[in-house]
Amino acid sequence: MESIENIERVKCLIIGSGPAGYTAGIYASRANLNPVVYEGLQPGGQLTTTTEIDNFPGYPEGVTGNVMMGELKKQAERFGCDCRWGIVTEVNLNERPFKLKVDGNKDIEADSVIIATGATAKYLGLESEEKYRGSGVSACATCDGFFYRGKDVAVVGGGDTACEEASYLAGLCNKVYLIVRKDFLRASKAMQERVLRTKNIEILWEHNTVELTGENGVEGCTLISKVGTPMEKEVKIAIDGFFLAIGHHPNSDVFSHYIDTDEQGYILTQAGTPMTNIKGVFACGDVQDPNYRQAITSAASGCQAAIEAERYLAEMN
Ligand code: NDP
Repeated sequence: MESIENIERVKCLIIGSGPAGYTAGIYASRANLNPVVYEGLQPGGQLTTTTEIDNFPGYPEGVTGNVMMGELKKQAERFGCDCRWGIVTEVNLNERPFKLKVDGNKDIEADSVIIATGATAKYLGLESEEKYRGSGVSACATCDGFFYRGKDVAVVGGGDTACEEASYLAGLCNKVYLIVRKDFLRASKAMQERVLRTKNIEILWEHNTVELTGENGVEGCTLISKVGTPMEKEVKIAIDGFFLAIGHHPNSDVFSHYIDTDEQGYILTQAGTPMTNIKGVFACGDVQDPNYRQAITSAASGCQAAIEAERYLAEMN
């Protein structure tokens, strides 16, 4: 049994540190909730892996993901938010206060919990993908597409995200290859039609990516078509950018025993609110958003979560 002295009591515990977590931190500290943010595996979240962010209002010259996350953190700390390294490894959300363990050894009791753990883009798992991350490989066309204006790029995936990313890039790039491993798209009919209608998108059906190549960043991609059939053959395409759109994995696993999620693991919140199925536990940002996944929507939902946590704690007292 953990002795009482070793258990820290926190009014508002924020788990995760992307735009949602830090924004929740700014609002919760300004509301005197003395929030503690555990920043997780990737402090600053997914945006720290992108290059320039040009679509966040208020940065007319653009800003890098790292700088923006650093500024959000500083802003939260200015109001007393306690940002710490650490990963929440266990939770018990049945009891009040909520019980959580950080890094497997630190016990916390929290009166309210804000889950802002984000989502992780899935990668194919190729060595060359790792090598070119940030220099030609991206998992976010809206973030990085602008750098490939007038160039040739490839998007891998056959769902709504892939079709949406391909359509977006088609508006900027000379040519977009859509690499689909099957002979059909999984995307909604409307999205499929949009892609099929777009002249500068070429769909490479039944193609699997095996390697990315290039001296200075991505310059080409090797594919195998019709794997395992007599027609199997190697195909090489020249590209400057390679976009992953094979899905995201919401980082909700540690909560899934208590918190309702959809079949993909996205936390279910009441429409337009950060409320989960447990009173006092709120979710914001990409962990509950399979659709928009933008820094600005994420930050906005972090604000909502902090406001709701404040209301909940006021009602409790
Ligand atoms: P999905 O899981 O729907 O699609 C993933 C796609 O990637 C599939 O075509 C899948 O192929 C392919 N894929 C997975 N792994 C690999 C791999 N290793 N190699 C090659 N291809 C691979 O993910 P999305 O992100 O597209 O969508 C997630 C959810 O969000 C969906 O419910 C979608 O409808 C929704 N969404 C809605 C939007 C909108 O309405 N505007 C926009 C974006 C997403 P296969 O088909 O062979 O399994």
